[in-house]
Amino acid sequence: MHKKVIRVILNSVGMLQDARGEAAIENLAAVIGECRKCPLWENTHHAVPGDGNPGADLMLIGEAPGKQEDLTGRPFVGRAGKLLEGLLSGIGLSRDDVFIANIVKHRPPGNRDPRDEEIRACTPYLEEQIRIIGPKVIVMLGRHSSRYILSFLPVEFDRITEIRGTVYPGVLFDHPVRLIPTLHPAAALYNPRYREALEEDFRIIGRELAAAGDSTRQD
Ligand code: SF4
Repeated sequence: MHKKVIRVILNSVGMLQDARGEAAIENLAAVIGECRKCPLWENTHHAVPGDGNPGADLMLIGEAPGKQEDLTGRPFVGRAGKLLEGLLSGIGLSRDDVFIANIVKHRPPGNRDPRDEEIRACTPYLEEQIRIIGPKVIVMLGRHSSRYILSFLPVEFDRITEIRGTVYPGVLFDHPVRLIPTLHPAAALYNPRYREALEEDFRIIGRELAAAGDSTRQD
């Protein structure tokens, strides 16, 4: 078959898959918005299912929504979010190129850590998001999301600083993926050493995406 025809067919298949992925992510967000599987939804303004590109090669996973996220329904919109956007821009990406989510979708009261039973109740949603998106690289922002995602390999650790920036190749839900733990951007807001560490880890993330044949980079 002529190369141009093959390219048109592949593009059409890709567009169909993107549309399906977008619809699946939106349907899941609607289910999350109505979810009452754990008490975290009480006293919140919005669920924060996650947002971005449903066909992204890079998925970033944080811990839980904070105050600004609860008010807007979007992940990483406060100062930590600005820092994250700067880190993404440093590797030629914007929020629209990636998918950003948390391990729990409603804000824990007073920003406390999510409890084990809340994580157990909520993570099937995150797992479904990973299945739909099929990212090539997953970056875990902070100790909680790193512990959860790396438990699938399994990898155990005491401190996030021991393993940050390490690339763990694995298979999640039948998708080959590279898993990279790093610090939570909020931890770097007042600590220049953590900020340098995050910048270093994002250079590694950029290299891994390039090696994985990322199709969403803008540079
Ligand atoms: S935190 Fe997760 S499991 Fe709990 S109510 Fe919200 S969406 Fe449901």
